[in-house]
Amino acid sequence: TVKTENTTLLVIGGGPGGYVAAIRAGQLGIPTVLVEGADLGGTCLNIGCIPSKALIHAADAFHQAASYAGASPLGIRTGAPTIDVAQTVAWKDGIVKRLTGGVGALLKKNGVKVVQGWARILDGKTVEVGDLRIRCEHLLLATGSVPVELPFMPFGGNVVSSTQALAPEKLPAHLVVVGAGYIGLELGIAYRKLGARVTVVEAAGRVLPACDDELVKPVAASLKRLGIDLHLESSVLGLAKDGLSDGCRGIRMKNGGGEEAVLDADRVLVAVGRRPRTEGYGLESLLLDMNGRYVRIDNQCRTSMRNVWAIGDLTGEPMLAHRAMAQGEMVAEIIAGKRRHFTPSAIPAVCFTDPEVVVVGMTPQEAAALGLDCIDASFPFAANGRAMTLESTDGFVRVVARKDNHVIVGWQAVGGAVSELSTAFVQSIEMGAQLEDVAGTIHAHPTLGEAVQEAALRALGHALHI
Ligand code: FAD
Repeated sequence: TVKTENTTLLVIGGGPGGYVAAIRAGQLGIPTVLVEGADLGGTCLNIGCIPSKALIHAADAFHQAASYAGASPLGIRTGAPTIDVAQTVAWKDGIVKRLTGGVGALLKKNGVKVVQGWARILDGKTVEVGDLRIRCEHLLLATGSVPVELPFMPFGGNVVSSTQALAPEKLPAHLVVVGAGYIGLELGIAYRKLGARVTVVEAAGRVLPACDDELVKPVAASLKRLGIDLHLESSVLGLAKDGLSDGCRGIRMKNGGGEEAVLDADRVLVAVGRRPRTEGYGLESLLLDMNGRYVRIDNQCRTSMRNVWAIGDLTGEPMLAHRAMAQGEMVAEIIAGKRRHFTPSAIPAVCFTDPEVVVVGMTPQEAAALGLDCIDASFPFAANGRAMTLESTDGFVRVVARKDNHVIVGWQAVGGAVSELSTAFVQSIEMGAQLEDVAGTIHAHPTLGEAVQEAALRALGHALHI
C-alpha cells in the first residue's frame, strides 16, 4: 500500500542548497517537504567543506607543534609531538554532528517535514520515497555531485576519494594524490603536515590550474618547502600491481617527457573533479534541457519545466556551497511570490591550501580578455606588520579596477588566513565600490586587512607602506 502526501514545495537533497531552500520556504510559510537519502547537510557538512577544514586545522596544529620541537625562532621548545588519528577523526566527526544536528533543528523549527530516504522522480509533480508518494506543486532538485572516478583505477581498497580521505583509520606511509585542484591540494598538504609522504600527480603544467601564475607561485613554493613531490604534465596510468585487497603497492604514471615510471604508494587519493548527480533517481524521465553534464537553469534557477527548479552542484560551476545556498534562498523567495534573479556580481572562490588563495571577480587577464581597460596593483604581506607577527609574510593582495571610473571588478589574494579577507573583497564588488572607497576607509591596525587598503592605495599611485 502506497501512502500519499501533498505539499507545495518538495526538495530533493538536504545539502547546503536544499536545506537552505527548505528553511527559507518554511520561514515564508510554504508547506515544504525535504527528502534526504543520506545525512542532512549533504556533501558540504558531512564529507566536504567542514570536515576538510577540520582536518586541515588539526594538521596545521600538529605541524606547528612539530616545528617547536626543532629550532623555533619564537623561543618555544617542546618534544616531538605524536598524533592519535582516531581521536582527530572523532573530533572532526563531533563538529559535523553538531552542525548537521543544527540543520535538523532549524528545519524542524521552520515547519519543514524531513523524509529520510532516496527519492525517485515519477514525474514533474510526483516523487516516491519507499512506500510514500509525495505530490507537489514545485519540485526543487538539489542532488549535488559525486567524485569523478578514473575508469582504469576505480575507487575501492586503497584507491580513495575525498570522502574516505577525510576519515582515515590510519595514515598512509606514502599518499599519491591524483589531481592538483583545490581538493587534492588541501588534503595532500594536510596529510603531509600529519607526517605522511605525499606525491602529487597533475596533468596540467601547474598546481591549481584554475588560478593565475602569480597566485600559484607562493603555493608551489610552499609545497616544495613542505617536501611534497610534484609531477606536473604527468598522468596516472593505473595500479602497478593487481591485488587491490592487499592495498595498492604502486601506481604507474607517465611524466612530462613521456617516460613511464612506477611510484611506490600505499594509498591513492583520486581528486580529478566532481560530476553532477543526474542518474539513478529518475531525473532522466523529466527530459530536462541539459547544459553539458549539468541541468540547465535560467537566472531564477528554473529548469526547462516551469515548476521544476534546480540549484547547487547539479547546475554547474562554480560547484561551491555558498553558491548553492544563495540559489536555494532565492528559489524559496520566488516561489513565495518575490521578484528575484540570481545575478551576483561575484562569487568568491577560496582554496584552503597553505598559503590560502582567494579569487573574487576578475583577474587582470580576465578583464583584459573582455576588453576592459583596467589597472591592477598588489600589496605584499612582507610589508604588513600583522603578517610578520603571524610568521606569515608570503603572498599578496591584488586589486583590479576599471581605469575610467575606478570601479573595482576583482580581488585576488594569496597568503595565510586570506580566506577571511574574501568577505571584504566580495562586499566591495557587490556594492560597486571604487578604489577611493577602499583606500579612504580606516582599516584596523595591525591586521591583514590593511593590505587590502594598501593595494587600493597603490592602484591610485600612493601606497603608504611600500
Ligand atoms: P550536496 O551538498 O552534494 O547535497 C546533495 C544531497 O542530496 C546529498 O546529501 C545527497 O545524499 C542528496 N541526494 C542526492 N540524490 C538524492 C535522492 N535521489 N534522494 C534523496 N537525497 C538525495 N565548497 C565550498 O564552498 N567551500 C569549501 O571549502 C568546499 N570544500 C570542499 C571539500 C571537499 C572535500 C568536497 C568534496 C567539496 C567541497 N566543497 C566546498 C563543495 C561543496 O561541498 C559543494 O559545492 C556543496 O556541498 C554543494 O551543495 P548541494 O546542495 O548542491 O549538494
